[in-house]
Amino acid sequence: MCATCGCSDETGVRVSEPGHAHPHEHEHSHAPETRTVTLEHDVLAKNDRQAEVNRKSLQDKGILAINVMSSPGSGKTTLLTRTILDLAGELTVSVVEGDQETLLDAERIKATGAPVVQINTGAGCHLDAEMLDRALATLAPPRDSLLFIENVGNLVCPALFDLGESHRAVVMSVTEGPDKPLKYPHMFAGSDLILLNKIDLLPYVDFDVDDFLRDARKVNPGVTVLPVSATTGENLSTWYTWLRTRRVCT
Ligand code: MG
Ligand code: ZN
Repeated sequence: MCATCGCSDETGVRVSEPGHAHPHEHEHSHAPETRTVTLEHDVLAKNDRQAEVNRKSLQDKGILAINVMSSPGSGKTTLLTRTILDLAGELTVSVVEGDQETLLDAERIKATGAPVVQINTGAGCHLDAEMLDRALATLAPPRDSLLFIENVGNLVCPALFDLGESHRAVVMSVTEGPDKPLKYPHMFAGSDLILLNKIDLLPYVDFDVDDFLRDARKVNPGVTVLPVSATTGENLSTWYTWLRTRRVCT
């Protein structure tokens, strides 16, 4: 649970207290060693209202907005830079970069020639709809273009914050291990697309693609999974086809 961002305000949070090793003098029941704390909905309700404003504004301009989420190091920025270069001349792309600190990823995107705005969240661990609204005011993506929103690297709270995007894509590399869909079900259940990245490393890691697909479909039966390598370019054409078929306007 995230103390700084309020991201667990959505629903009940189960707090387990296994072991109970601490010394204490007070009397209480030891029977069920879990308790449920229900927190307020305000943070997410406010976010959802702004997200709807963002969504309408993006749709009115025919902008296809993809919220790209992952844990740190999955290869999001590499995937995006390669995508921008490969689709140059075909699609107009701009990018909102989310990171706690630095302009490093924004500089990598900028080197491709695509317009980019960096949001630094400081202690925050996800982007929210208001941050996107502010970024869009600066970025002003053109009509009928493609907008990538690279979220803060984190498989937990970005899943709870609607930004007003058209689609959600989660990037996961084979080096992370196949158990992530079951461990982070909100992220995988809420995404339209899973890009399984770094498949060029499959010979060197303990990662069973079939196990991964089975678990991903357990939490999200309809999800599209595209195994790719942003480094070698293997299978990236499937990702480009996915993007082309989702463009609102041509
Ligand atoms: Mg990045
Ligand atoms: Zn958070």
